[in-house]
Formats: sequence, C-alpha cells, structure tokens
Amino acid sequence: MFNDSLKQLANQLTAKKISSTELTTEFLQRIKQLNSEYNAFITINEDMSLAQARTADKMIAAGEAGPLTGIPIAQKDIFCARGWLTTCGSKMLANFVSPYDAGVIERFNQAGAVNIGKTNMDEFAMGSSNETSYFGPVKNPWDPAAVPGGSSGGAACAVAARLAPAATGTDTGGSIRQPAALCGISGIKPTYGLVSRYGMIAFASSLDQGGPMAKSAEDLALLLNVMTGFDARDSTSLQREAEDYSRDLQKPLSGLRIGLPKEYFAAGMSGDVASAVDNALNEYRKLGAQTVEISLPNAPLSIPVYYVLAPAEASSNLSRFDGVRYGYRAESYSDLADMYRKSRAQGFGPEVKRRILIGTYVLSHGYYDAYYIKAQKLRRLIAQDFTEAYKQCDIIMGPTTPTVAFNLGEKSGDPIQMYLSDIYTSAANLTGMPAMSIPIGFGDRNRPIGLHIIGNYFKEAQMLNVAHQYQLVTDWHNRSPV
Ligand code: GLN
Repeated sequence: MFNDSLKQLANQLTAKKISSTELTTEFLQRIKQLNSEYNAFITINEDMSLAQARTADKMIAAGEAGPLTGIPIAQKDIFCARGWLTTCGSKMLANFVSPYDAGVIERFNQAGAVNIGKTNMDEFAMGSSNETSYFGPVKNPWDPAAVPGGSSGGAACAVAARLAPAATGTDTGGSIRQPAALCGISGIKPTYGLVSRYGMIAFASSLDQGGPMAKSAEDLALLLNVMTGFDARDSTSLQREAEDYSRDLQKPLSGLRIGLPKEYFAAGMSGDVASAVDNALNEYRKLGAQTVEISLPNAPLSIPVYYVLAPAEASSNLSRFDGVRYGYRAESYSDLADMYRKSRAQGFGPEVKRRILIGTYVLSHGYYDAYYIKAQKLRRLIAQDFTEAYKQCDIIMGPTTPTVAFNLGEKSGDPIQMYLSDIYTSAANLTGMPAMSIPIGFGDRNRPIGLHIIGNYFKEAQMLNVAHQYQLVTDWHNRSPV
C-alpha cells in the first residue's frame, strides 16, 4: 500500500477494499514510527486528519468521490491551514495557529483529500538543504548523512520514505525540483499564476509558486488537476479554462524535439550526474525523440539575478513580522522600537536575516538602479533566451542539480556554495515557465539523480506526457529507500 500510486489508492477506496480512515491510520502509524529518524514533519494532528478521513469516507459512501478523495497528502508548513500550527519553519511563527485555509488547502479539502501533517522546510523557504529550519534538519531517507535538499525537504523526504503518498511544495528558485531530485521523487513547479498564492506565506512573490511532489508524473497530473485554478484573492492568479493534466499522458514521443542548452552541460556538473542524464537522453531517443543543441546565453546569470530579486522581495514581505500582529514577540524590551528590534532579532534565523539585509541594501537609495533595476533587466533577457530557444525545440532538458545530495553540514557555512545548488533551476522562476524533475538513477554513494524538464508557458500537460513515457519504460520512480 505504501508504494501504491494515487490511482491504485483511489481504486481501493472506491472499491471499499480499504476506508480512508484505515488508510490514514496506516500512514499516521508509519509517521509515528519513522518521523523521529527523518524529522520530515513539524506537526502531526491525528484528530484533525482522522476527522477529514471520516468526511472522505462519507463522500465515498455517497458516490461523490473524486480522484483524491480519502487520500492523505502531506502539506508543506508554508500553507496556512485552519486550526493547524503553521510555522513556515521559523521561530517567528512557532506558535501561529492559522485561522484560515490557503487557496491550495481549500482545494484539497473540497476534493476530499486528507491533510496527513505539515512538513518541515527551510525557514521561510530560504535554503537548499533544510538546515535553516528552526525545527532542525531533515534527513535524506536514502542516506541519513545526506541533506534531502530544500526548501521543501520535508515534503520530498515524506514521499521518498513513503510517509505520505504525495505532498505539496513551493518553488521560488528550485525548492520543489531540487529536493525532488535529491530524494529520488518527481515534482513540478507549474507556470507562474496557475496555483493560488493566497495563504501561502510569501517569500519572493514574483517567483513563488506552489506545486505537487509525488512518486510519478501520473500522480503529479492528478494533483495538479486539484491544485490549479483561478483565485480572486491572489492578484497574480490567472483566469484560464480548467485543464485535465492527465489528458496527454499516453501520447507517443516520436518527433519530440528536446533542446539541450550548452550552458547547462558545461563545467560544474559532476560525472555521475552527467552520465545519468546521458542515459536518460538515450532512453528518450529510443522513444522517438530527437535532441538539438540550443543556447541560453544569459541563463548563467540566473543565480546572481535571483539573489538580488528574491531578497529584495523577501525584505518587503517579511516586514510584516513585527511582533505585534502575530508571531513571536520578545519577552522584555524598553520601548516600541526596541520591541520590534528584539522580536525580529530573536525570531528570525541567520539565513533569513542575511536575505533581509541583502534585500534592503539592493532596494536602498543609490543602489536601487545599480542592483534591483539591473537585475530586472537581466530577468527579461533570460526570459527572451528561452522564448528564442523554443523556436528550435519543444521542451528543454538538463540536470536538475549539479551533484547528488551533499552531506549535512557540508555547505551550511558557505552561503555561495549553497546558493549554487539552484544553478539550473532558478531560471524557470525568473521566467515563470513550468519546470519539473524526475528520478533517473543513482550516482556517488548511491544517492539519487534528477532530470530537469523545462517547458514553455502552460505546457504542463506536455511535460507530464514526456515524463510519463519515460516512467513507463524505467522504474527509478518506483524505487524506495525503505
Ligand atoms: N534555494 C533557493 C533559496 O534559498 C530557493 C528556495 C526556494 O525555492 N524556496 O532561496
């Protein structure tokens, strides 16, 4: 059961071979056994999960079940969920019980899914290793010495260790795809604006996008069907007709043109990752696809551009944590200014403070033109590179990450090295294009490797098709560490 696909679980539920209450209890049991080892969840609330399971069982009995009804989903602790502790991995929100549901949570609730718990994450989604969490690091289930990636490290770990059949993540510079790659699972960041950001605690609003993490592309399609849709409470939410993201899964790939950016196959990628990507590309050639070399000349600037824009937006978004409206407040202070200062100094961790400092600096008078405006211009040039490239190819592929998972502690003292984890992923956030990662094998120390698939705007169904066809002829996505 722990290895079943979402479709298999749904079939067992509607055939009444198992109830949602039983299924939920099984997963809660497994989480209780294993979470102390992995630290994948910050909050488990058996009563709330089981209450949702009972509601799902009623929906099933009444013949009102949809594809996700009764299925436990692990929710990243960045999504506000009514009655649930919602910490965003920070001491600042360690006591915050949300009075309302995020748009994404509402959609899962309407679908009859069960919230199986809130997953661990880097503080305010800032990180690539889950080591910045106030609640401690998450372990990679393939090797407890390794990081799971970040910031959705708890989500990736939960799916890989089979503590949940699927999970949500958010991706500002790579936080769905990088942990998916490092934990050997599948994950997709949709086109910016498809998934509501309402109630998803903001890091860098023009880059943040929620998305699903699961074992397979087929599962991701079912999850996307529920997660996407217009939300008037998010001013950047797109008003589009609903799509069935499963509709193209079975299409053959003959004639597919895969673009390989020469900038992504250059120095920096380790040998084990390069050969796994090579093997995956050969699989695609066997499936009838052809590969073409393309160029994204400005893509190597993605990390510097990202580390101006993301901190700038973060410094503004995080100003709301002032110790007054909600969240942590220092116990002793002399006056109002001192209360702000102490609450923020004590409530935020070092990485968050670093981002606020950088962001405030690049937005300050005298530096705004040199950094912020310049970065916005480069952002446009990077997007133009991709639009040009799509004249020569249908889809773009490369490695998701330059190396397999690194060890806990290996990069936590060196922010620049840590930031380079997103060297291939951050461009998709800057352009708003959809991108995903799927497992394609194992490298150094038997740690997982991911293939990065980038699509043009709104090409999620095509990307899922491309991923699914590969998963029909390989079984990396079915491997589990436990
Ligand atoms: N690793 C990147 C950062 O630290 C991206 C994080 C994310 O996508 N949320 O900002």
